[in-house]
Amino acid sequence: MIDSQGSQTTPMSDHPVKVIRGDILIVDDTPQNLRLLSDILAQEAYQVRQALSGKMALMAIRAVIPDLVLLDIMMPDMDGYTICQMLKADPTTAHIPVIFLSALSDGLDKAKAFSMGGADYIAKPFQLEEVLARVQNQMALRAAELRNQQLQDELEARVRERTRQLEIANQELCREVLERKLLQNKLLEIAHHDPLTGLPNRVLFIEQLRQALDAIAVDATTRFSVLFLDCDRFKIVNDSLGHFVGDQLLIAIAQRLTNILGPYHTLARLSGDEFAVLLSTGDTDRAIAIVEQILAAFTQPFQLEQHEVFITVSIGIAIGHADYRQPEHILRDADMAMYRAKAAGKMQYQIFDPALHEVALQRLQLEIDLRKAIYQQELVVHYQPIIAMHTGRIVGFESLVRWLHPQRGLVSPNMFIPIAEETGLITQIGYWVLHHSCQQLRQWQDECLTERPLTMSVNLSARQFAQPDLVEKIDEILAETQLDPHCLKLEITESAIMENAQAAAVLLQKLRARHIQLSIDDFGTGYSSLSYLHSFPVDTLKIDRSFVQQMDGKSADSGLVPLIINIAHKMGMNVVAEGIETPEQSVQLKGFNCDFGQGFLFSKPLESEKAKNLILSNPHW
Ligand code: C2E
Ligand code: MG
Ligand code: MG
Repeated sequence: MIDSQGSQTTPMSDHPVKVIRGDILIVDDTPQNLRLLSDILAQEAYQVRQALSGKMALMAIRAVIPDLVLLDIMMPDMDGYTICQMLKADPTTAHIPVIFLSALSDGLDKAKAFSMGGADYIAKPFQLEEVLARVQNQMALRAAELRNQQLQDELEARVRERTRQLEIANQELCREVLERKLLQNKLLEIAHHDPLTGLPNRVLFIEQLRQALDAIAVDATTRFSVLFLDCDRFKIVNDSLGHFVGDQLLIAIAQRLTNILGPYHTLARLSGDEFAVLLSTGDTDRAIAIVEQILAAFTQPFQLEQHEVFITVSIGIAIGHADYRQPEHILRDADMAMYRAKAAGKMQYQIFDPALHEVALQRLQLEIDLRKAIYQQELVVHYQPIIAMHTGRIVGFESLVRWLHPQRGLVSPNMFIPIAEETGLITQIGYWVLHHSCQQLRQWQDECLTERPLTMSVNLSARQFAQPDLVEKIDEILAETQLDPHCLKLEITESAIMENAQAAAVLLQKLRARHIQLSIDDFGTGYSSLSYLHSFPVDTLKIDRSFVQQMDGKSADSGLVPLIINIAHKMGMNVVAEGIETPEQSVQLKGFNCDFGQGFLFSKPLESEKAKNLILSNPHW
C-alpha cells in the first residue's frame, strides 16, 4: 500500500518500506501480456499481482486493496468496463485508479473508459516508457491524493480539537459568568436586606419608594402610602433583658407585622427598632385601618423563648403623591409624623401634616444656632433664690440656664433644652452650667456676702445623668472651682432615675459619698412613686408648681400637697414647693410644714449681679 509520500507500508506494519513503490494488480486474459507488464513493473520495484480473468481480479482486489489496477478491456468472462464500474460503485474500492489496457482491435472507446471511472489508458502493444510513465503518473496522483486526504484529516482533527477546546473554554466561561452572577446576586441580597430579620433594609426600601414615585409620575392615579413605625421604650427591653432578647423581639415583631401586611405591602427594617411599610394604597382610610390593625396586634404580648414581652409602637403615616420628588422626603415626612405620635403619648398614629415640616425646619435652625451659641458664649445662667419657709431667709439658689439669642432675645430653656437633649448637646451645656454655677457660689462665698451658708441647686437632664463619666466630671469641676461638695445640690427628675434605675443606684451612692445633695425635681408629674424613691439616697423633694398653683389659700382641701410633705418628712426628706406666686400659697405651705419655697412671690430668676445684690440686701419674707 502506498502512503502519502509515495512509499509503501505493509498492511500489518506502520514502518515505511522504501523499496516497494506500490501494489499493482494487472488483469489480462493473455498470459504473455501479464508477464511482460509484471516484468516491467517489478523491475521498477512495484509489487505486482496478476489476474487472468475478471472474477480473479475481483477476488484479488477484495483480498488486498491494490494501489493501482491495470485492466484489460476485452476478457471472456467479464469485460474491463464492467469490472471498473463495479469497483467505482463500491466505496471501499472506488478510489483505486484504473488504467485500461487496450489493443487497437478492441476499438477503444476513450470516452466510455473515462465515463466508467478510468483514470488513464495504455494502448497495446505496450511501449515500455509509456507504461512506466502512466503508472508513475497515477501512483504520484494517488500519493498526492492521499497526502491531500491526510492533510485534510489533520486539518479536520485540528479544527475538531480547537472546537472542543473552544467548547470547553466556553463552558468554563459560562460557568464563571453564572458563578459571578450568583455571587453578585448574593452580594446584592446582603446589601439589600437586614441580616437579623431578613427584611428589606433602608437601601432597598428607598429603591422601592423610588419605583413607586416613578409609577406615579407615569400614571398620576397610582397611589401609595408610607408608614414609619418606631417601638416605644425598646431601649428598656435591651437594657433590662439584654441584646439577645432584644434581637429575638425584633424578629418576632417583624414576623407579626409580616402576618398582618401579607404580600401586597412591603415591610422593611430601617434600623434598630424602626420599621417602614410601603402600602399599596394611597387611601387615607384604608391606611388608617391597617395602622389600627397593627396597633391592635401590639396589645398582645410577644412570647419569646424565656420571656413574655409587651411592647408598643408609634406610627407615622405619609400619603404618596406626585409632588414628592425624592423617596427620602416621603420617608422623612412619615418619620416626622411618627415623632408627633410619640410626643402625643406613644402607641398612637399620626398622619403627616405639611405644617410639621415647617416646624421641623425651625427646630433644625434652632439646633444649628444652639451649636453656635455654645462657642459664641450666648448662654447665660440666672439664679432663683430658694427660701426657708419658717425664717423667710434665702438658703440657696437654683441655677437656670438661658440663651441670649442675637435675634430672638432671651430664649427659655423649655425651648432649647429638649433639642439639646435630643442632639446630645446637653452634656456640653450641662457641664458648662455646672461649672459656672459652682464658680458663682464659690465667688459669693469668697466675697462673704452673708453669714448663712448658701447652697447651689443645678439641674441635671436625664441624658447627662446617664453619662458614664458624670461623677468624674463633677469631681473635676468641684476641684477646679474649689467649692465644698456640701453646698452643691443636683436636681434630677424621677423619670431620669427610673429609666436608668440600676446605674442610678450606683451613681447616687457615689454622690452621697461625696456629700453632694440630691433633689427630685418636678415631683408629681411623672411616676410619683414615693416608696420607690425611698430606696435611693434622696435629700429633697421639689413639689411641682402645678400642685402649688392649685392652692388658692382658702379651701381647707389643698389637694395632695400636705400628704406629700408628710410622707416625705417621714422618709427623711425635706420639701421645696416650686412656683409660689401668692402670699396665700406661701402662708398655707408654711402651715403644711413645707421646709422651703421658690417662686415669683420671692423672686424671679436673676442674672448674677442682681442675685448678688439680693443676697446683700438680706431680704426677709
Ligand atoms: P425647673 O428645674 O423645674 O425650674 C423651675 C422653673 O420654674 C424655671 O423655669 C423657673 O423660672 C420657673 N419658675 C420658678 N418660679 C416660678 C413661679 O412662681 N411661677 C412660674 N410660672 N414659674 C416659675 P425655667 O427657668 O424656664 O426652666 C424650665 C426648666 O428648664 C427647668 O425646670 C429645668 O427643668 C430646665 N432647665 C433650666 N436650666 C437648666 C439647666 O441648666 N440644665 C438642665 N438640664 N435643665 C435646665
Ligand atoms: Mg429644677
Ligand atoms: Mg422643677
